[in-house]
Amino acid sequence: MSKCITNEVECPECGNKQNYVRWQSIIADIDPQLKEKVLNGELFVFDCKKCGKKFPITYPCLYHDMGKHLMVYLTSDKESINEMNKILFDSPETFEIQARQGYIYRAVSTVNEMAEKIMIHDMKLDDRVIEIIKMLILFKSGNEGMDVDSIAGMFYYPAKDHKHQIVIMFADGKQTFIPIEEELIKETMTNLKDKIEQNTEEGYQAINVEWVSKILS
Ligand SMILES: [Zn+2]
Repeated sequence: MSKCITNEVECPECGNKQNYVRWQSIIADIDPQLKEKVLNGELFVFDCKKCGKKFPITYPCLYHDMGKHLMVYLTSDKESINEMNKILFDSPETFEIQARQGYIYRAVSTVNEMAEKIMIHDMKLDDRVIEIIKMLILFKSGNEGMDVDSIAGMFYYPAKDHKHQIVIMFADGKQTFIPIEEELIKETMTNLKDKIEQNTEEGYQAINVEWVSKILS
């Protein structure tokens, strides 16, 4: 069962107080409508009934896809990742069963990252390889004259016909889509397999730009 708590939130625009539901945990298999709302970001938006303004709200949330063996924990607090791992390792039987099933545990700090991890996994890709490819694209784009300081974010986004792409979002709101070939994904995994495995920890781990810098250093 997905779990939530409801409490009152004050609108930062007009001061109106209304109930707001925070989802502490989501079981994607049981509540696919909640998964949709994670992917479109709706689950983390405060929508004021009085003035109509919408505000993003990020709160700790654990996403679990039992069928696809994925758990993604959204938190801005590094300490709570350790706490989640403690809970995980404190029930070795469950952990062992999940390990045999090839469970993947990820920690993310933004709603966009959470959606990205889910999409990557749904496309049967390895997010560690995708993060490395994002960095390679960044290097290449910089060398080709792109102003990399104007980049606000880079995310995997599935393209048509099961193809893959990275969307580069710029600070001014513009976007560029860079296709990535299946071949590059395979090659990257083959070339860096040992390093990738050496830098993969048990339990919840943040696989992001900091992680990639260790791989490529
Ligand atoms: Zn309001």
